[in-house]
Amino acid sequence: MSERLERGLQALRAEVDAKVKTFFSSCVHCGICAESCLFFTETGDPRYTPIYKTLPLRKIWKEEYTFWGKLSKSLGLTQSLTEDDLKNWEPLVYDGCTLCGRCSMVCPMGIDIASIIQKVKVGLATADYSPNDLVQATQRAVELGSPMGIKLPALKAQIKHVEDDIGLTVPMDIEGAEYMALLSSMEIINFPEYLESLTRIFHQAGVSWTLCSDAFEATNSGLQIGNNAIAAQLVERVVAGAEKLKVKSVISPECGHAYAAIRWNGPNYIGRPYSFKVIHILELLDELKQSGRLKTKGKDNTRLTFHDPCQIVRRGGVEAQPHQLLGSVAENFVEMTENGHMNWCCGGGGGVSSIERAEGLRVKVFSRKKSQLDELNVDKIVTACANCRLVMEEGLEENDMDIPIVGLTEVIAEQLDESNS
Ligand code: SF4
Ligand code: SF4
Repeated sequence: MSERLERGLQALRAEVDAKVKTFFSSCVHCGICAESCLFFTETGDPRYTPIYKTLPLRKIWKEEYTFWGKLSKSLGLTQSLTEDDLKNWEPLVYDGCTLCGRCSMVCPMGIDIASIIQKVKVGLATADYSPNDLVQATQRAVELGSPMGIKLPALKAQIKHVEDDIGLTVPMDIEGAEYMALLSSMEIINFPEYLESLTRIFHQAGVSWTLCSDAFEATNSGLQIGNNAIAAQLVERVVAGAEKLKVKSVISPECGHAYAAIRWNGPNYIGRPYSFKVIHILELLDELKQSGRLKTKGKDNTRLTFHDPCQIVRRGGVEAQPHQLLGSVAENFVEMTENGHMNWCCGGGGGVSSIERAEGLRVKVFSRKKSQLDELNVDKIVTACANCRLVMEEGLEENDMDIPIVGLTEVIAEQLDESNS
């Protein structure tokens, strides 16, 4: 057995916890999860069924934790996991699963299939079976502080543009501020309008906030590739920044997996609770709106819809807030037929958008979002994740669909009543 395979097997064995044992023993092989996964529905390829993607871990569980598995192994009747298995599952798991969690919602046995697929990633990453694009992004995150290689001077340049445009200061390294905001690389480079909107809204609502020069990046490539040690290191960076500035809360930006990483997985990665709260920007905006601090005037009258980012809405539980917020500033807001926690994924979450070789598959599975949009005939799409936004822009372009996509924070800022601020 090669050293690489041994490493992968050990990592997979370590991932077989009580939850995994319960999940695998409960699966009744009904196949219901298949119809919930856009990688299966849009390709018809049975290898993309959710439960099939978990097979490497299932093999280990069966062979080492079940009576019949142990017996067949001792009689030489089963074939143990091979290096070829790891090689074959690498594209299935990394390119063909966004960890959207839609499959977990429909399983009649309550199996959280997405969380098992994440565990398969851990085994693959340990055995060095991960896409090169993700490996490089992870290296950049560790060495430079951001998966896209964005360093502080690039952020400062964007801040300068924002400040010049709106005539307000973007606070940086303010000790004792109530909130510390994080940004994703994509927001800094592709969508600086998010920072601009945030600054205007917080100024109007009188929110005490700051960015942190040591910890501005929200993206967690460790989670995306399945390297828990790196994921913990990136979370520690945010924790150190928040503790240094003594903030009460950290704001997760319009980025799906960043929210999952810092809000739900972070304390588990680092093995201790935080000394601060984590809040998603949409939760905070909703709180500010409900309490009357965030004031808007008028409404956008474009026919528009909302794409629910999986990690914020379905996996993250921030479901009512975006729909309430959008309803309050949009006159012609129409919901997708499947919306909220059952909306379909954009096809590029969980790191899939960073994998160049997955482009063809991404575009193919976008047909699901296209069908949803075709039903509505909208003039604008609103979402709350920079990654969803880029992936959908790619899909719309491929399908010659000329529909602009904007962030929800931006839509709210457009209706901001700044008369008394
Ligand atoms: S998490 Fe989403 S993409 Fe992954 S297998 Fe389940 S439904 Fe498919
Ligand atoms: S829906 Fe649940 S029980 Fe049915 S095959 Fe999928 S994982 Fe197994």
